[in-house]
Amino acid sequence: MSEQQALLPWLAAPLAQGLALRAHALLLHGPGAVGQFELGLALATGWLCEADDSTLRPCGHCASCHLMAAHMHPDFYLLLPDALREPLGWHGADEEGVRAGKAKPSKEIRVEQVRAAIDWGHQTMSRERAKVMLIHPAQAMNPTAANALLKTLEEPAGRLRLVLTAHDPEALLPTVRSRCQRLPLDRPPAPRALEWLATAGVTRPEVLLAASGGQPLEALAMATDGIDSDAWEQFPGAVRRGLAALVADWTLVRLVDALQKLCHDLMCLRADAAPRYFSAAVLAPLMQPRAPPWPALAQWAQDLTRAAGHDEHPWHAGLRSEALVGQGARLWQTARSRQPAASGPLDTLSAR
Ligand SMILES: [Zn+2]
Repeated sequence: MSEQQALLPWLAAPLAQGLALRAHALLLHGPGAVGQFELGLALATGWLCEADDSTLRPCGHCASCHLMAAHMHPDFYLLLPDALREPLGWHGADEEGVRAGKAKPSKEIRVEQVRAAIDWGHQTMSRERAKVMLIHPAQAMNPTAANALLKTLEEPAGRLRLVLTAHDPEALLPTVRSRCQRLPLDRPPAPRALEWLATAGVTRPEVLLAASGGQPLEALAMATDGIDSDAWEQFPGAVRRGLAALVADWTLVRLVDALQKLCHDLMCLRADAAPRYFSAAVLAPLMQPRAPPWPALAQWAQDLTRAAGHDEHPWHAGLRSEALVGQGARLWQTARSRQPAASGPLDTLSAR
């Protein structure tokens, strides 16, 4: 297999499984960043591969595999929200709706995009094997767009096969779900993920693998975005002290995500459960001399959910970061100010 198509090591087994399935519509589902997109591409490459020996597909050497690697295969169609084209490195300038200079790329797969894809599906096959449409992520289709796809999912034209990805199949219309054969893709075993991250140059990969909830692609994306293991471990202490300098270069999306994970883990510790995203050793000082009160944590969780729902405001990112970190720091101020009232009713509440 060529370097460009080097498969994530934990995808070999699900790829073999998927290639053996005969269904014309497959739904790849599992946690967000473990490689559904990469698996979808590999399946498409395998189905389109022109190697004589079917056990070697995708071979990485035939004309079809080269066309896939160059993002130029005429029998492959990628249906993506415009907002994902840049991050995934697929610039489908030929696709309707992608125009240079457009204000903000859409996070949705629009109905016009689906209609253009369906039209493509009815065109004659260019090469000999099949036609493949990859829809990533399928939950980006709004109900109108998803409904437009139903007939194609039910009876694809000619030798068209479809691959849909979703982190949560329940987020899809039942009519879409029921027309697809499912192929689950779970988090890879930690040793395999850690080895891959180390090879990719991530230092102390166990820190970022935990930070990403066991999703290696997300862990790598964090490192690429400048959040290394040291920064992740310094983050809880910086929040407590209200120091926004550490996160000055983080995007708001990353910052809110990190705050939500910190909030989650502090709640775990208050409930005598193990933290998930930070190590217990890193969090221990934050529970001294007294842990943040439970009601304050619950309120913080709600505020962060709201913050996560808002779009990024690039012009005010710096101020917004400071405000978010400051809000986190107040948790401990609350804990201090309530300390004298140790026997009051508030304390009973906060000790839960
Ligand atoms: Zn091939």
